[in-house]
Amino acid sequence: MDERKSRAWREVDLDALAHNARALQAALAPGCRLMAVVKADAYGHGALPVARRLEREGVGAFAVACLDEGRALRRAGIGGRILILGYTPPEEAARLHRWRLTQTVADEAHGRALAARGVPLEVHLALDTGMHRLGLPAEDREALARLYRLPNLSIRGVFSHLCVSDRLDEAAGGFTQKQLQRFYGAVRWLKEQGYDPGETHIQASYGIWNLPPQPCAWARAGIALYGAASDGGPTRRALDLHPVLSLRARVATVRTLAPGEGAGYGLAFRAGRPTRLAVVTAGYADGLPRALPQGGGAVLLAGRRCPMVGRMCMDQLLVDVTDVPQAAPGAVVTLIGRDGAERIGAEEVAGQCGTITNELLSRLGARLPVVTCG
Ligand SMILES: *Cc1c(COP(=O)(O)O)cnc(C)c1O
Repeated sequence: MDERKSRAWREVDLDALAHNARALQAALAPGCRLMAVVKADAYGHGALPVARRLEREGVGAFAVACLDEGRALRRAGIGGRILILGYTPPEEAARLHRWRLTQTVADEAHGRALAARGVPLEVHLALDTGMHRLGLPAEDREALARLYRLPNLSIRGVFSHLCVSDRLDEAAGGFTQKQLQRFYGAVRWLKEQGYDPGETHIQASYGIWNLPPQPCAWARAGIALYGAASDGGPTRRALDLHPVLSLRARVATVRTLAPGEGAGYGLAFRAGRPTRLAVVTAGYADGLPRALPQGGGAVLLAGRRCPMVGRMCMDQLLVDVTDVPQAAPGAVVTLIGRDGAERIGAEEVAGQCGTITNELLSRLGARLPVVTCG
């Protein structure tokens, strides 16, 4: 037995990942290239195996959230561009330089403080086009010009982030158009003034799904790369993407309950009939939302759907397997993924506990070994 599959594990299909990278690249404008967003351990898929495979597939840029994520990629031998999307304290300038990481400039004060460290740094300017998260206001041309005149900062790119591109209603569409206008307006102004905007990027996954191809250097895809939508909502374009992650665990034991008997904390489950109950080896400390059984959560066992029942524990959960005679100690259970003709999508699980797949997947715990295939 593969020792990584002893209790509960993440299966990561690298061929599906490579397929998704090709499908996304094909959906971009000519000259626009895919930047793989591998922050949060590649949304729970394992940043190192994911980045290594994508680099072999020709992906030349990666985005992370923080310095340590970027450093881990460099240490693993990733050679392409690595952009830190989040704020890094200026005191870390020497480490940014040492690991050849490209830092996002969060606002003018951040840019000034980075420049003041006296270390040559490659940066991308974040422009705030309406989300009001990171970025200097796209219409503040004077601040833009001041950043270009700072020493030590080599501005290699300018980007922005869309905040309602996942919605198809008219109001959201109008807002996204405004964001695009502000972004391209600033880029045009920089060029007119003789400042090189360098590499431009504004689309993330929903920008790729819902906008026409954009005339930028990069598109930053996260959730779509992993073959998941954030939720089950509609998108303008249909992209042929395959789920990359499966989550599996095992049956620890099977017990029989008489009608009226309870099980688990709070005896929250009550058997209404003679019931076979399987104890499954995964719980909320593995990153599964504790509310999942009450939200309609299920697992697959021998290709059959079995409902979760009672309260989820830290390391275990309960499943009604009365109708599945194959349920026996050691049997493999699928919490996300395919088993025979049945499939449980990450979108379904996220919906059952009121969140999006981005959160569900990125919270999958470090206690779950990553087993790659493909
Ligand atoms: C996380 C993030 C992305 C990736 O978003 P997805 O919707 O997962 O594709 C892109 N850009 C920025 C700035 C981000 O923070």
